[in-house]
Amino acid sequence: MMKISPFLLLISAVLSGQTLTLGVFTYRTPEKILKEYQPIADYISRELKMDIIVKPLSQEKLEQGVSKGEIDIIATNPTHYLSLQKQMKTTGAIATLVKRYGTVTTPYLGGVIITRSNNANIRSLSGLRGKTIAIPGKKFLGGYQTQAYELLKAGIDVDKAITPVVVKNHEAVVNAVLLGKVDAGFIRSGILEEMIGDEKLKAHDIFVLHEQKSAYFPLKTSTNLYSEWAIVASKKLNVETVSKIAVALYGYKNPKIGNDIIAGFTIPGDYANIDALARTLRIPPYDTLPSFTLGDIWKKYGVFILIFTSILTLFVSILGVLYRKARFEQKYAQSILNTIPTPIIVTDGTHLINANTAFLNFVEFETVETFKKNHDCICNLFEEGDTNEYLRTNMNDTTWIEYIIERPEKNHKVKITVNGITRFFKVTVSMVYYNDLIRYIAIFDDISQLLNQSTTDALTAIANRTHFNLLFKHTLYVAKREHTPLSLIFFDIDHFKAVNDTYGHLVGDDVLRHLANVTKNSLRKSDIIARWGGEEFIIVLPNTSLTSASLIAQTLRKTIEDEEFAIVQHVTCSFGVAQLQEPEEGEKLLLRLDELLYRAKENGRNRVEVG
Ligand code: GH3
Ligand code: MG
Ligand code: MG
Repeated sequence: MMKISPFLLLISAVLSGQTLTLGVFTYRTPEKILKEYQPIADYISRELKMDIIVKPLSQEKLEQGVSKGEIDIIATNPTHYLSLQKQMKTTGAIATLVKRYGTVTTPYLGGVIITRSNNANIRSLSGLRGKTIAIPGKKFLGGYQTQAYELLKAGIDVDKAITPVVVKNHEAVVNAVLLGKVDAGFIRSGILEEMIGDEKLKAHDIFVLHEQKSAYFPLKTSTNLYSEWAIVASKKLNVETVSKIAVALYGYKNPKIGNDIIAGFTIPGDYANIDALARTLRIPPYDTLPSFTLGDIWKKYGVFILIFTSILTLFVSILGVLYRKARFEQKYAQSILNTIPTPIIVTDGTHLINANTAFLNFVEFETVETFKKNHDCICNLFEEGDTNEYLRTNMNDTTWIEYIIERPEKNHKVKITVNGITRFFKVTVSMVYYNDLIRYIAIFDDISQLLNQSTTDALTAIANRTHFNLLFKHTLYVAKREHTPLSLIFFDIDHFKAVNDTYGHLVGDDVLRHLANVTKNSLRKSDIIARWGGEEFIIVLPNTSLTSASLIAQTLRKTIEDEEFAIVQHVTCSFGVAQLQEPEEGEKLLLRLDELLYRAKENGRNRVEVG
């Protein structure tokens, strides 16, 4: 092959008008780098007809050079290549270096873990724990990082598990192992083959740990394989030039025979696993990542995280159970409430919050919401009634609920009429705190029937004596307070004993029922009629003067006289009429009435005596 003189090269470069600089990461002395790369630069210069200058530089200088536009092509190691990639100043790898080790060539490298063959203690990765290990340095990909990553993947934290002993170089590692200075050693793939080739080592003296066999990798390795050095181009170069450089590189063949020398270049290798390795070991370009990776946190606080997440999971599931339970209990409670025939409500004192079916059925509303749309307060339904014993919306300037709560000893009653049907309830209220809010549960015990039984005369269905007493007390109180006239009519059937004697008691009962009805129908709604006892009746006429009352009595006397009764045909009654004369008491008025009635009897019956 014709040797081209530097002069000719210069001429051709000047002719093409372009000079490119190839920066090479200086991992050895610059002289060694120049010796290694100058032939390559010369080759590309010839192929591309341009001048290629080789500059051995540190990684930092390479990066600065690219930034300033002073470096056009870079040859560097895989981890630095990743760093360049992150900076986005260069293209992806345009070629991957192919190395020769004796008779074999490969674009890959791996890490080798070695022990002495006669050291049977260490035969697996876990056997390395607590051992001293010779390394050429932590920055060496094949001399430390690949092994460290392999150990990490096997669950062994190399920083903690082993004691590294840094020696001069790869060869020194092998020697330290052979001499028993260390338990094991990390070296780059190819070193063993090189030393054996140079007869510096006998193959059987060394044992390779965790050996990985690969059909396309002819060397011993204990780790995964990684792509060799990468060639990248500055992004300032045009695509055509970059392509030409790549093609030229692929065509380069170093005819030299030897070990660990550049044999040529091939298409770009896969650097993904280098990326994973660099991330995990946090070596450049990942050495400046946030000091805490998830892995770090896991490593440091894994136990706490486990405990915390377990507690959290437990807590969440308990909450879930409680929530489901609460929902269930709520539904359960609601369904229990709904099966109770007694109306029950939950209120904030005014507004209805919840109610059971019995309540909704009674007030004739489908839902609590529809009830709320029609009534601000359940108390809107409360009626005053004939006596003052029923709760009203406002009691003594407090709400009905507060009134009940403050008077637990009292029997609280409400009167409610829905669609013409009047019902009476005994109300019991209990106060509950719910989420810092006061809620009242009110139970409406229907006492309509009880009340009727105790207040109504069973035979005549008008008020009985007991109820009369209550009603009389109330009207007396109202009359005195409001200074309105109050009159009473007391009457008794004439010769009723004879009716019973003649026709029997059943006929007598019919007469009593008939008479009660006739009387009731001839009175105003506000008037109260009650059976005093036997065949004696009493009428309370609120807001009625003595004159009016005597007229009413006369009319009633006439009505009864004219009324046709079954079987007995006719009955008459004698009447006493009196008006309350302040400040007389109720008893006195009743006594006067009794005397007036007696006088009516005395004076011939079927007559009205007014007092
Ligand atoms: P007078 O009042 O006109 O003087 O004569 P009287 O016959 O009505 O006299 P008295 O008051 O002595 O008699 C009342 C009678 O009423 C006695 C009793 O048999 C009858 N009586 C009282 N309660 C009932 C009742 O619930 N049913 C029936 N059938 N009779 C009753
Ligand atoms: Mg009588
Ligand atoms: Mg009598």
